[in-house]
Amino acid sequence: MFACAGCGAELSVPVARVALPAHAFRSGGERYLPPVLPPGAYAVDPEPHGPPLRRWAEVGAEAAAARGVYAPVPHLSFGAPGRILLAPGDTRGTVLVPERCDGCCGAAGGLGPNLACARCGREVGTRIDDCYRWQAVWLEPDAVRELPVAGPERPPGDGWDVPGLPPVEPLGWWSDHWSAAVGTALAHLLAASAGGPLVLPDGLVTVVFGRVPAAVLPSPLAAGAPARTVALVGPGLDPGQEPGSRPGSGAGPGPAPDLALVPRHPWTGEAWRPSGGAVPVPLDAEVWAYLAAPEAASTTRPPEGVERDDPLPLRPHRPFQPDRWLLLDRLARLPAVREPWLRAVYDRLAADVPGFLP
Ligand SMILES: [Zn+2]
Ligand SMILES: [Zn+2]
Repeated sequence: MFACAGCGAELSVPVARVALPAHAFRSGGERYLPPVLPPGAYAVDPEPHGPPLRRWAEVGAEAAAARGVYAPVPHLSFGAPGRILLAPGDTRGTVLVPERCDGCCGAAGGLGPNLACARCGREVGTRIDDCYRWQAVWLEPDAVRELPVAGPERPPGDGWDVPGLPPVEPLGWWSDHWSAAVGTALAHLLAASAGGPLVLPDGLVTVVFGRVPAAVLPSPLAAGAPARTVALVGPGLDPGQEPGSRPGSGAGPGPAPDLALVPRHPWTGEAWRPSGGAVPVPLDAEVWAYLAAPEAASTTRPPEGVERDDPLPLRPHRPFQPDRWLLLDRLARLPAVREPWLRAVYDRLAADVPGFLP
């Protein structure tokens, strides 16, 4: 539970920590979006992302590198690292600061903290609920403190076993979660490629991950650099571990790949450590779980016999688009982007994103 650092008033219900989701920083998508986090959860952003923002040209490469950003980005955050993300419905005892409420349908959070402690008036965080934004409350780390209380019950188990999230929404468009998760993971995948060709597994992995490497890395068919293999590795799918009991994980683990697409732990965000020498490429756990066992994901199909009356699920009318903005945002924060080959890849990708290059 979080409380005001000034007066001690309770500012949240009891919450349990989860990994920071990739779509916490995605904008766009549908006009009215739900909260980033489900009820009863909180996450911490180890990096500064909020206002005050300063333009790249004012900051310069050296000062940016000192803040953990190694390639040009439109704006650099000079906010505090360690901001705490909650679902707006899990906050208590706060009032809005009306003159800080920017945005058109709600608050966009661009003017600094717009939430104050209702008891003492201290600025404690920022509510974001404008159109085209995932709803969120971000508490400022130095304005609140943690109260140790019994949190919500964790589901049984070690947390790795999460249901797969389908890549397509019921109305037939690609999932925003997938776009954000794959965009973020692509930054790690490109860095781990060392600039050589990648061989991805056929099927959905290639559908969602394939187009960006195909555009910026050499073809695996080209002579020269040896191609690196990529495979899903994680609970139930790790060549160095016992074959898993995960339903539908198929024939079990294959040979160890060069690069391993691994899940991030749903509670801690820590990447699964592949056995052997594979380089881990972390991916959102629910997206990973679907890629590993699509047939195990829950569906709402009616029972056999009734099925003939149910329309087939809708399908996207355009190719999958990883979130390029999140890809660049993550890539700019990987120290490897200072290597000339990766910086050239970064510049090529950035040139295709309107408004990204400063
Ligand atoms: Zn207070
Ligand atoms: Zn609006």
